[in-house]
Amino acid sequence: MADFDLFVIGAGSGGVRAARVSAAYGARVAIAEEYRVGGTCVIRGCVPKKLLVYGAHFAEDLEDAAMFGWDVPKKRFDWPTLRDNVLAEVTRIEAAYTDTLTNHEVTIFRERAEITGPNAIRLASGKQVTADKILIATGATPVMPKIEGIEHAISSNEVFLLDALPKRIVIAGGGYIASEFAGIFHQFGSHVTLVNRTDVILRQYDQQIVDRLIQISLRKGIDFKFHSTIDKIDRRDDGSLHISMTGCDDIEASALLFATGRKPNTSGLGLEAAGVEMGEKGQIKVDADNRSSVPSIFAVGDVTDRIQLTPVAIREAQAFADTFFGNTPHQVDYSCVPSAVFSHPPLAGVGMTEGEARNKLGQIKTYTSDFRAMKNALAGRDERSLYKLVVDGSNDRIVGIHMIGPDAPEILQAAAVAIKGKLKKSDFDATVALHPTMAEELVLMR
Ligand code: NDP
Repeated sequence: MADFDLFVIGAGSGGVRAARVSAAYGARVAIAEEYRVGGTCVIRGCVPKKLLVYGAHFAEDLEDAAMFGWDVPKKRFDWPTLRDNVLAEVTRIEAAYTDTLTNHEVTIFRERAEITGPNAIRLASGKQVTADKILIATGATPVMPKIEGIEHAISSNEVFLLDALPKRIVIAGGGYIASEFAGIFHQFGSHVTLVNRTDVILRQYDQQIVDRLIQISLRKGIDFKFHSTIDKIDRRDDGSLHISMTGCDDIEASALLFATGRKPNTSGLGLEAAGVEMGEKGQIKVDADNRSSVPSIFAVGDVTDRIQLTPVAIREAQAFADTFFGNTPHQVDYSCVPSAVFSHPPLAGVGMTEGEARNKLGQIKTYTSDFRAMKNALAGRDERSLYKLVVDGSNDRIVGIHMIGPDAPEILQAAAVAIKGKLKKSDFDATVALHPTMAEELVLMR
């Protein structure tokens, strides 16, 4: 008999869910984590990022407060206070995750684990264990380019730990992390330059919505260098960085953040030797049941490079546990996964963009609402929201919802149910508006 029914490698969102649920079904479960319980999302991703986004919002809220009658003394932002409070909150959540595992009698190994065979694992301490099933949930890691001076740059792993707020920060990339941190640092008072290899950012989102983000960001004072690449980084004696560029003038900065994608964490795990098939980016290839090419080895989350989002990893982990330990087999439905970028302002989308719908469906209708939120109007903040519905012209079904504006992700989460439920534009029209809200625009587009 093997030591465990399930051995999970990686205690992030996917790994913890799979371990906890499988254990609740009665499986004998162990989990190994070489860094901190909670993984990217809790320790250096979604959670601390969202807390920084909240912190960043105060910059504008405190400015706008005057128009609402509040006499706010001169505001001053203290990065170490927010940083340390955020890190303390992360530690609190890490402890809660750990408690969840121990309460379910999951054995935690706080060390690196490697696979030595289809059912065998070796821990860093040298201990060998066996398991009927092994689940790899090791996530992904930031990609850093191989350029001269790269040791002077940081990734999203280090950004939460900065000693001081950078006066000038350059952010490389035009995806989620770049867009979110451009907003965060700008609100804190840093001068932000976003460098992107093309003139398209947030490629997978509806480009009309993304254009609005660029417009608003430019007006706020965020600098964009499109069609530009970073060639070399030199650190000067005073600690500042000289960044040599192609496509634009060289840039002087106090920090450089690379946010050019993340690659699956599969190296050195013993996967090749065990015969686990991997793709070009090093991702573990799995079937719809999260099973790799080795029948006893499974993988969920970013390490499989399907959709790199926490709630997707959690779904995959739940499906894995239900299927193999809960006797209720099911598979994850990857259609219509809502997503959001916590930029300033945030944007969110679900379903097909206008471009995708035109390509796939041909005949479509789009409805947009371009409006200034009531709060922004009174505050004198010239920042307009944009909501868009993409409708299948042949049957009136809403196939995409895209939004930018205050609270867009909160509103879109509820609206995403409509897409999943295959609702029609006429269903939205038939719904009475809830006034005065921003969300009411969704049912008032004609
Ligand atoms: P993204 O995949 O979102 O974006 C990567 C960006 O870097 C793109 O603009 C891409 O350009 C550019 N890029 C890629 N390779 C290179 C290169 N070699 N040189 C220059 N530019 C390059 O990655 P992130 O790092 O921002 O985020 C990683 C993942 O984490 C995301 O995919 C997302 O799934 C997840 N995440 C989700 C968040 C959320 O849900 N709100 C927040 C943060 C992260 P191009 O478009 O031309 O390929």
